[in-house]
Amino acid sequence: MSSSTDRRNVAVGPRKEGAAVKGFTQKVHFSNPCLNHSLEEDVQAFLIDEDQLHTFDDLTKVNPVTPTTVLKCLQARYSLKVFYTHAGCTMVALNPFQPVPDLYSVDVMRDYHYATQPQEFKPHIFIVAEEAYRNVQGQLEPVNQSLVVSGESGAGKTWTSRCLMKYYATVAASSPAARSQDTVERIERRVLDSNPLMEAFGNACTLRNNNSSRFGKYIQLQLDSGQLLVGASVQTYLLEKTRVACQPANERNFHIFYQMMKGATDEQRKDWKLPHNQCFAWLPKCEKQIEEDSFHETVEAMVHLGINEERQRQIFRILVGILQLGNVSFCSSANESQPCNLDEHSEDFLQRAAELLGVPSEELQTLLRVRTLKAGKQNVLKPCSQAECGVRRDCLAKVIYGQLFEWLVMFINSCICADKSKWCNFIGVLDVYGFECFHINNLEQLCINYANEKLQQHFVAHYLRAQQEEYVSEGLEWSFVKYKDNQSCLELLDGNPISVFSLLNEESRLNRASDSKMLNVRLEKELGCNGNISWDKFSKVPHFTVTHYAGKVSYQIEGMVEKNKDPVPPELIGLLQKSDNLLLHEIFTDKETEIPNNKGLSKVTVVSKFKNSLENLMKVLLTTAPHYTRCIKPNSDCRPLTFNEKEVILQLEACGIVETIHISAAGFPIRIPFKSFLQRYGLITKYSTSGRLHVDSDADSTIILQQEVERLLGVVLQHLSCNERRSLVHRGRTKVFLTQPMLDLLEDLRKNIM
Ligand code: ADP
Ligand code: MG
Repeated sequence: MSSSTDRRNVAVGPRKEGAAVKGFTQKVHFSNPCLNHSLEEDVQAFLIDEDQLHTFDDLTKVNPVTPTTVLKCLQARYSLKVFYTHAGCTMVALNPFQPVPDLYSVDVMRDYHYATQPQEFKPHIFIVAEEAYRNVQGQLEPVNQSLVVSGESGAGKTWTSRCLMKYYATVAASSPAARSQDTVERIERRVLDSNPLMEAFGNACTLRNNNSSRFGKYIQLQLDSGQLLVGASVQTYLLEKTRVACQPANERNFHIFYQMMKGATDEQRKDWKLPHNQCFAWLPKCEKQIEEDSFHETVEAMVHLGINEERQRQIFRILVGILQLGNVSFCSSANESQPCNLDEHSEDFLQRAAELLGVPSEELQTLLRVRTLKAGKQNVLKPCSQAECGVRRDCLAKVIYGQLFEWLVMFINSCICADKSKWCNFIGVLDVYGFECFHINNLEQLCINYANEKLQQHFVAHYLRAQQEEYVSEGLEWSFVKYKDNQSCLELLDGNPISVFSLLNEESRLNRASDSKMLNVRLEKELGCNGNISWDKFSKVPHFTVTHYAGKVSYQIEGMVEKNKDPVPPELIGLLQKSDNLLLHEIFTDKETEIPNNKGLSKVTVVSKFKNSLENLMKVLLTTAPHYTRCIKPNSDCRPLTFNEKEVILQLEACGIVETIHISAAGFPIRIPFKSFLQRYGLITKYSTSGRLHVDSDADSTIILQQEVERLLGVVLQHLSCNERRSLVHRGRTKVFLTQPMLDLLEDLRKNIM
């Protein structure tokens, strides 16, 4: 267990004087194999008491813990509109799929914030928020915190992250003094406004979620020494920019385009050369009815963040330029040595696109249809086929949108990030796309699912495994709880020297004509005997199937290498650098425009970039104390208050909830090194025994510390029955292991003395 987690566990929030000690009702959680009846019978017996199922606000109290009992408890609670349940160290959040009045109000936030012991309140995401907030101070030294929110698409991750941010923006709002000096909007307002803005540009309506995040984000809320919010920084991961030029059936493009179409004023439309009735190929409607009234909100967020009117105009013109570009289509010319022609009407669209993007229309037209190759030292021009012209058009749109998004994130950071001298700790909120398994999966899903594997590994390795290993190393009796380890799947994906990613990168760099075919051949040859990958020989479309911790996913091989290369013709970048749209010009100024040799593209691939950014994220997460929230999607149709048992149980199994509960239930979640323990609770012995302070804070000898701890525990345990003694506290080799009730008792004894 990392030392930061230890410290997290030491932290205790402020308490009311003389608060009641919680009941010591920790149960034995494993069914006893010596008993004559089976687990099945235990489960049945447990489930009979249906009226009581909803009362389990912590799943560790369920006995026995099985997928069925856990499922039934959650279901019973859901039917009574109780959406949060503890699962030991994890918070389970069920999506209500309907607004829940008053559940997230400022008053409720205050209740949890000012509670002596928020844990005694009903389970709520605010308990997680408050725990992290109290722990960031630490008892001995401050510890950065991470709130990791996971779950499948539509489960409620983004909603939860927003709730967490609102909580901190409320309870840790900047001081009144700082506010009056602020000339711009208050920092908490700006931090909150970054959400609708990033969501407008990075979210879209998909089959699974009307507001699906098509990028991952890790936001760090920066706190000063007084625990007040003074700034924030955002890191984003892999925006699904393909969506701008290619929307899956029945899904839509990014929200911002629709918002503009609905919300623009006549004046803006005129500026954007946009008649009311114009249709766009890249703006498909989907069957779901979505109200697009958020343009105003997006613009307001821009204003609050300091994006002035001229900048806004540049942004919107670029966006409409992209849409106009999407209406340009090509038809092949009679003579192959001649460039393709533009389709009927396309001339107009291209003209408008060029104007809005601020580039010469003639040049745009040429560059879309003719490519430049390098032959020796000379550049050679070659007309593109009809299909190639389409690819170049899409590529132009994608690179513009992708870079615009990056600029936006950078801008947001520049106006919400506090100077390093002003903050000392952070609470990080991680909201990455959930596990995805579609009918057709490609590189995007491979990356997304890889990210989920990494997070699962973080949970498994740094929570489940570490907890258990520590019990053993500290000499506690412990029988290991088995859990699904996803190490082998991760090795298949990113291991050394050969893995799916390494082969994909090699093929991308070799730049062969039939790269997809070669990739498949090499995957089969070099990884064929790995148990986590398989092939369906009868499938018409070449693909490989990976067994992820959350299920099997088949990835289509066609196009994967090309996507990984993410090639952008340098001529197009050169064109954008000349743009008289100042923003576009600025965004592309430093980009590479050298035409590469056809051989050996050494460019950074999508996969290698993504892997790097994830590794950096993992490094940060490892230095923080993690808090896990598992969002569960109760039904795939997003219907309010509908609980589909089969779907829920799959999600519970995928995230290993039963194993988590077993480990949390049987364990001692709080561990305090001897010295810290004595420093905090030594007072108790001083007053309750001879009046002598037994804590020698400089004592280094473990034996002396051990003896002191024994003495102290001896005094405290007088307050408990024999049974309670063993189940509530345990002295290890270097640390004291405690349950929450025991910690509460210690805190109360200490308070009474002080
Ligand atoms: P994810 O980010 O996991 O893909 P979202 O957070 O976007 O999912 O949630 C999907 C939708 O579910 C939201 O747009 C919202 O309508 C609904 N939702 C999620 N959590 C809640 C909640 N706690 N209360 C009410 N509605 C919710
Ligand atoms: Mg989301």
